[in-house]
Amino acid sequence: MSINAKIAELTNKLESTTIERRRDFHRHAEAGWTEFRTASIVADQLTKLGYKVQVGDEVVDSENMMGVPASSELSNQASRAIEQGANPEWVNKMEGGKTGVMGIMEFNKPGPTIALRFDLDANDANEAETNEHRPYSEKFNSINKGAMHACGHDGHTAVGLAVAEIIAELKGELRGTIKFIFQPAEEGVRGAKAMVAKGIVDDVDYLLGMHFGFQLKKTGQIACNVTGFLATSKYDATFTGVPAHAGAAPEVGRNALLAAAAAVLNLHAIPRHSEGTSRINVGTMQAGSGRNVIAPKAVIKLETRGGSSTINKFMSDEAYRIINSAATMHDVKVEITEMGGAAGCSNSPELADDLAKVAEKLGIFNEIVPECDFGASEDCSYFMERVQEKGGQAAYTLIGAGLAAGHHDSCFDFDENALAMAVRFVSTAATDLLLR
Ligand SMILES: [Zn+2]
Repeated sequence: MSINAKIAELTNKLESTTIERRRDFHRHAEAGWTEFRTASIVADQLTKLGYKVQVGDEVVDSENMMGVPASSELSNQASRAIEQGANPEWVNKMEGGKTGVMGIMEFNKPGPTIALRFDLDANDANEAETNEHRPYSEKFNSINKGAMHACGHDGHTAVGLAVAEIIAELKGELRGTIKFIFQPAEEGVRGAKAMVAKGIVDDVDYLLGMHFGFQLKKTGQIACNVTGFLATSKYDATFTGVPAHAGAAPEVGRNALLAAAAAVLNLHAIPRHSEGTSRINVGTMQAGSGRNVIAPKAVIKLETRGGSSTINKFMSDEAYRIINSAATMHDVKVEITEMGGAAGCSNSPELADDLAKVAEKLGIFNEIVPECDFGASEDCSYFMERVQEKGGQAAYTLIGAGLAAGHHDSCFDFDENALAMAVRFVSTAATDLLLR
């Protein structure tokens, strides 16, 4: 039997397990850096399949973790995960929210190193509890308040585990090395940077990433050449002034609200960039303590985006300059914290072409979309950028899935028929690359 026929058979065999896993992850949704249960299930399963498994400090660099919840929240979530069945041994190794997992398998014959990247996290959202929402009516809606899989990462993780099982099953026929990367905190683009900083993809020749849905809202569609990843940076800026009586002694105050307001207006006045797309948005501003008090504190939350990492860097450097200057102008202090970020990048054209050929050859997709503009940010781009910098190739694929509602909507759900299609496509693409 050919390797592709074996993959087809194994995919069928694993389809119901994959759906069950997806529903289990959905029911136990975990937001970024708190995926203790999901990650420990992944680590257990990879171990069982014979992968060398690395978690916590081995694959996540704490200095580059962005937007990490407070330590009290992390320990509450770790206890919650253990109550919900997480293996405490893994959870201990993931202390501080280092919920990244990598499974490595080296095959007997030499060959390329490939990496498959999947994301683990849910959104900070409450799931709809109406009978029209299938996860609710079929009782796999999230039991974790404030966390909901509204982007399909539950499906990605389930696909990753099925592919890992198929690859392990076929190991006698494969060459080279495969790395399964399960990344935390994709939402808010906070997690990839910390895994890339550990150097885990520095030796990778081919990296593949995938996502269900987005522009491909029909099961049976696939796009192997995804373009238009916007580089982005997310910041919180906290201005600290001096409070004073607004009537009796305004001159001794230092007004944080005015500094923030001056910053906001000037941030939106950063010029557009001639070389491509650029964006700036201050999404929230909170300031002041009372009507008759010179405002001692103000916080703004902002983001920049760019059609390339260079353009985003221009926007981000300008933003720093403006925020610091506004603080100086009003004689207040300011602290800028990086809360998230993604690189701008594109698929390696050769690899994207090869993947499209794999999709075509499989004959399970009824529409191969030649090019798809992503038009959003995804921190898989950090992995892709690093692999490309080191001379490897990287590609991100969108796999079509019928959607009940848009991504991040409280009624989000996707057609589970897309799971097996993704498993078969990713497994075939991976084995094709390993056998080069
Ligand atoms: Zn997503």
